[in-house]
Amino acid sequence: MKKIFLEDEPDLEIFLRQSSNSRRITLRISALDGKITITGPNYIDFKEFRKFAESKKSWLKSKRKSFEPPIFISEGTKIPILGIDTKISLSDSPEPNKVGSILFVSKEKPVSTQVKNYLKEISRVHLDHMCKEFSERLGSKVSKITLRDTRSRWGSCSNDANLMFSWRLIMAPEDVLAYVAAHEVAHLKHMNHSKDFWETVGYLFGPYKKELAWLKQNGSSLHRYKFES
Ligand SMILES: [Zn+2]
Repeated sequence: MKKIFLEDEPDLEIFLRQSSNSRRITLRISALDGKITITGPNYIDFKEFRKFAESKKSWLKSKRKSFEPPIFISEGTKIPILGIDTKISLSDSPEPNKVGSILFVSKEKPVSTQVKNYLKEISRVHLDHMCKEFSERLGSKVSKITLRDTRSRWGSCSNDANLMFSWRLIMAPEDVLAYVAAHEVAHLKHMNHSKDFWETVGYLFGPYKKELAWLKQNGSSLHRYKFES
């Protein structure tokens, strides 16, 4: 099958299918495997197909993101920690130890479990610290912080001042983690997403547009990392 490639997007592979039955150009992305197909009549020029696909580029790119293959954690895998690529390496030391951009884990124990526990541990340290700082600035008190591996939300705040966070946020850039902490702490004062709430987030964190956009664009990529051993 003929293929179309878009300018500056060598990873977007589009399969071209021309048929005499078809009357107009359609672009499809398979929900099963993310395969992209452009279909259209025989008489239409290759250039027209390309132009059509080019006009749908941003749609294709965002759709394609959800088909990124999983990344299984093992020796040599790179994972982001606070947004910085960190390579996993084996060592004789029994406890995980991060030196620069290398995370050493024991060669005697399952790698992915150690990495997962390490990420949970440091996300707890960071979130405890951030939430304490933000809640003091707000004059409120957090009762408990729970870490989970949630898919639908990055954090939550209950009526009795319990905060929940996804520990996967420790892989996001530090500002993104801090923004989510500020967001949930702001809910201690406003249990809604009113104008007053967003003002409180701004008061605690400062401008947050960039961090919100990062989560929207890249948040799903934090779920690519698979820690099952
Ligand atoms: Zn919220």
